[in-house]
Amino acid sequence: MYAVASLNFGLSTYMLNGMPIVVEQDIAEMSYGLIHAGGFSAGPFICIDSTDRPEIWHLVLRHEYQHYMQTAVLTPVGCGIAYSFEQLVHGYENNWFEIEAYNAQFDDFVLDIFYWNSKEVLHVEWEW
Ligand SMILES: [Zn+2]
Repeated sequence: MYAVASLNFGLSTYMLNGMPIVVEQDIAEMSYGLIHAGGFSAGPFICIDSTDRPEIWHLVLRHEYQHYMQTAVLTPVGCGIAYSFEQLVHGYENNWFEIEAYNAQFDDFVLDIFYWNSKEVLHVEWEW
């Protein structure tokens, strides 16, 4: 129990102060065809589906960064519970967490990320 609490609040502390760890990969291939998504976030990690379209890459990064911050503020366990509750009651389309992320994905942004593929910090700036 203490281990779970330590991990939960430890991750939250890292996420509020550190930068997202971004992994770019073919998500369908990685998940043996189970997941077809532009991206997803899990704790401090953001996974972006490989794409050669920069506008899609930046849109997915901004959408998933919103989920990253939701998780950082509510902690991974708290956000997991709240997200699941929203999903049950309102479904994906009207899930508050998704509405907020979709509303943010066309924002201009400046963000430092740790880009896992090349193991370096990248300064990302995007304007629509
Ligand atoms: Zn989302």
